[in-house]
Amino acid sequence: MKLTNRSKVVSNKEMTLAEKIYLPAIFKGMGITLKHAVRTVVKGAPAVYSYPEVQKPRATIWRGHHVLKRDEEGRERCTACGLCAVACPAEAITMTAAERTKEEKHLYREEKYASVYEINMLRCIFCGMCEEACPKSAIYLTDRLVDVETNRGSFIYGKDKLVEKINERIDITTRQSEKQKNAVK
Ligand code: SF4
Ligand code: SF4
Repeated sequence: MKLTNRSKVVSNKEMTLAEKIYLPAIFKGMGITLKHAVRTVVKGAPAVYSYPEVQKPRATIWRGHHVLKRDEEGRERCTACGLCAVACPAEAITMTAAERTKEEKHLYREEKYASVYEINMLRCIFCGMCEEACPKSAIYLTDRLVDVETNRGSFIYGKDKLVEKINERIDITTRQSEKQKNAVK
């Protein structure tokens, strides 16, 4: 059954001479490169950034390193409902739920919380589906970059890297629509 109109009919037609020698395609590609080079010179924008000392400006809606938010009283918002994990197309999110004790009321917003919450940054495609799926406004992507690591295990980000620090709150209001802001409970 055909679900969308996105599929294309594959053509097996014989390649033309121009396609066989690749030169027109190469010149076309070089033309695009040249166009961008000229535009860079004319606009005076730096062609090269001395990363990491100098970072290229990123849009406020850039989808980078996630943050697990706290509420206004500093309690973790995540209730380990798992909706973000279900929505994630890359199956990058895993978590373990736990029940809050009386003594932990100041730490976790609701009776259930994530004792373990992990995102595999090697799997993540930064699509933002987790952010959209979360009913508790607990997870957001931010304009921060994921660190460079030298071993695969370090790309599994746990709560130590995801939950915002109590004294270093991360402002995500610039990426929220008015509707989202009003929906935050
Ligand atoms: S941004 Fe997308 S791929 Fe990455 S964890 Fe969220 S839902 Fe999964
Ligand atoms: S981040 Fe949001 S969607 Fe994901 S488990 Fe926590 S509360 Fe549920």
